[in-house]
Amino acid sequence: MDLYDLGTIKRILAAHGFTFSKALGQNFLINPDVCPNMAEQLNADRDTAVIEIGPGIGVLTKELCKRAGKVLAVELDKRLLPVLAETLAEFDNLEIINADVMKLDLNRLIEEKFSGFRSVKVCANLPYYITSPVIMNLLESRLNIDEIVVMVQKEAGERLCAQVGTRNAGAVTAAVNYYADSEILFNVGRECFMPSPKVDSVVIRLKIRKESKYTVCDEKLFFTVIKCAFSRRRKTALNSISGTMGVDKNVLTNIFDELEIDRNIRAENLTMDDFVRITEKLSEV
Ligand code: SAM
Repeated sequence: MDLYDLGTIKRILAAHGFTFSKALGQNFLINPDVCPNMAEQLNADRDTAVIEIGPGIGVLTKELCKRAGKVLAVELDKRLLPVLAETLAEFDNLEIINADVMKLDLNRLIEEKFSGFRSVKVCANLPYYITSPVIMNLLESRLNIDEIVVMVQKEAGERLCAQVGTRNAGAVTAAVNYYADSEILFNVGRECFMPSPKVDSVVIRLKIRKESKYTVCDEKLFFTVIKCAFSRRRKTALNSISGTMGVDKNVLTNIFDELEIDRNIRAENLTMDDFVRITEKLSEV
């Protein structure tokens, strides 16, 4: 079955009475090159288990099933289950779970479903309304996974993969950088989807570090400092942190001076090392 053929897609969806939900970020891929390319970039073999988020009608799922040992696809929209049963009937290494990925205990699922696999990876054309929460959830849960290859909105991808300390960086950039090495793999134009969204996309790779690159005394405080520093982008990091964290401005000014960090620096120009050192000093206050 050619899942990229518009006539085939329309026939299957009509047969199941399916209509697209904008709220669930349902823009399905119709370009035949994108999914094979994503699956190749994931580099999954029969010893690899893959979690896919949001299989839709199964275009990417199919490419993953062809290559990986096992695929677990999590789809929130139960109307798509009978569609997937039809489009992916040929695969016996696939399990579909009808659930909200944000509410699943992925650690438990990995333990239960993937024992014996050498490697676990995540691959998805993510629903855009929850891109950052899903990625942060995957990283913060410290899942036993090796890498994440996902499609996201171009602007989100550029922020996720930016270098900390540069203009494109945000709180999420620093958070991603804490756990993973990131890179943009390739661009995907809006014309590759049905219905076509208003923005272009990119496919990114996050390679999870097994050992942390940074020594942080208090992780919770570290992420609070980052979030607060970026919360008022037009202000200096010093004003932003002291205002949102409720830290006395004089105390924070002394910390910046002691660390030889410019009092007027903005959050986007702080490095990971700066965030680590500010956190350390704040933990002593
Ligand atoms: N993988 C398909 C493709 O590339 O054509 C569909 C991608 S579409 C951008 C996003 C998919 O995620 C939809 O199938 C949507 O129903 C599903 N989805 C949305 N929110 C979800 C959630 N919270 N948990 C799991 N799946 C979700």
